[in-house]
Amino acid sequence: MLATAPEVLAKYEPVIGLEVHVQLLTATKAFCGCANRFGSPPNTNICPVCLGLPGALPVLNAKAVEFATLAALALHCTVNARSIFARKNYFYPDLPKGYQISQYDKPLAEHGWIDVPTADGCTKRIGITRLHMEEDAGKSLHEGFADSATRTYLDLNRCGTPLIEIVSEPDIRTPDEAFEYLTRLKEVLLYTGVSDCNMEEGSLRCDANVSVRLKGAPKFGTKAEVKNVNSFRFIRAALEYEIERQIEVVESGGRVVQETRLWNSAEGRTYSMRSKEQAHDYRYFPEPDLPPLIVTREFLTKKTEELPELPEARRERMIADYELSVRDAHTLTASREFADRFETAAKTAKNPRRVANLLLSELGGRLKALGFEPEQSPVSMAGIVLAADLLDDGKISSKQMKQLFDICFEKGEDFPAVYEREKPEQITNTSAIEAMIDQVIAANPKQVEQYRSGKKTVAGFFVGQVMKASKGQANPALLNELVAKKLDG
Ligand SMILES: [Zn+2]
Repeated sequence: MLATAPEVLAKYEPVIGLEVHVQLLTATKAFCGCANRFGSPPNTNICPVCLGLPGALPVLNAKAVEFATLAALALHCTVNARSIFARKNYFYPDLPKGYQISQYDKPLAEHGWIDVPTADGCTKRIGITRLHMEEDAGKSLHEGFADSATRTYLDLNRCGTPLIEIVSEPDIRTPDEAFEYLTRLKEVLLYTGVSDCNMEEGSLRCDANVSVRLKGAPKFGTKAEVKNVNSFRFIRAALEYEIERQIEVVESGGRVVQETRLWNSAEGRTYSMRSKEQAHDYRYFPEPDLPPLIVTREFLTKKTEELPELPEARRERMIADYELSVRDAHTLTASREFADRFETAAKTAKNPRRVANLLLSELGGRLKALGFEPEQSPVSMAGIVLAADLLDDGKISSKQMKQLFDICFEKGEDFPAVYEREKPEQITNTSAIEAMIDQVIAANPKQVEQYRSGKKTVAGFFVGQVMKASKGQANPALLNELVAKKLDG
């Protein structure tokens, strides 16, 4: 581990830019009809087009353009009416064509942004330079075979998988900001449904460009690229390491080299892999087999209409609709599917806010204690709605509700079934409740005094005491009413 003194670190400012590759969830590949599927037997989803055999011609997948456009709009990019596919030439064993079809000087979309929360509670806007379309390469398999020590195997199924590459401006200044940017980006992509963003399967991959400069220096330092880090947590760790490494190089009088470095998560450090390619190394030229990509105004209007409510806007609305905290809003909107299920259910309840409340406190607390995911909950959304309505109608007390939830989790049953079977008893007999209230009033003269001298909130104390005495069985609505009557009378 590096151990640079904090006052040395404080002299420098890191500059970070991120390049994110995202596989699109199309049924077929970008330029041919092969299945775009993860996990098929090696080299089964391939054809002359994605292998680049002589004479094969690419045909652009319209669905890939739709997804790329949706993502661009969701990231506030300007979509160019005309963009150009280009060949990016390089030789690598998992790229049988010898080039990738990408976009270069005329990308699909530019000038977007993502807002990220900062440590001091504000938001910071990170610019998106460009979003362009390209195809993926195949995969070299360096392990998992008996002779992996001496051989590398190739799986070309991934050749031609449609990708978007999203390049940020060098606006990011801390590893935490990078983490937030990636978290927001992934959330938006999941909400728009253009990718599953599964990092373990390589659907979302991130490379980070990082340099350091003395605070206030006008020019950027020389950057290194950290490649192939497979989780956001590791990207944060890799950036932390790399920033400190570069500061140490500069402090000891050396110069940072422009290079590509690999993150080793087991050792918690980056290693030099190769000197970084420059754009001219790739000898880009316009793809002669594909016409310019024209995006019409009608198409853009249609895609704009198809955009779902995006996570940030949805959180703001839900905070207002359900009186949520920012944190609770994040919990409920963690995935679009979950937020949809919640809102659909909440709308059918008498008091949607109570549904949110039960979901977050009663259900959330129990799930967390068990280490369960929301999908593993024995209580369905409909069950929560029923519990909320019963509470609202005063048909069960909150204590009874808690007991019923306990049974649900003990037996792995949904709330409606448990409620039907247990049907908790309720005392709705006015004189029985009055008798209990009289006892509590007699036993607590000081609180009665407080109430009668104007401290009306003390009524809650009496309601609580009587509820306890009734073992949670007093009808809450009736109890509230009778307590107020007795105290006022
Ligand atoms: Zn193919």
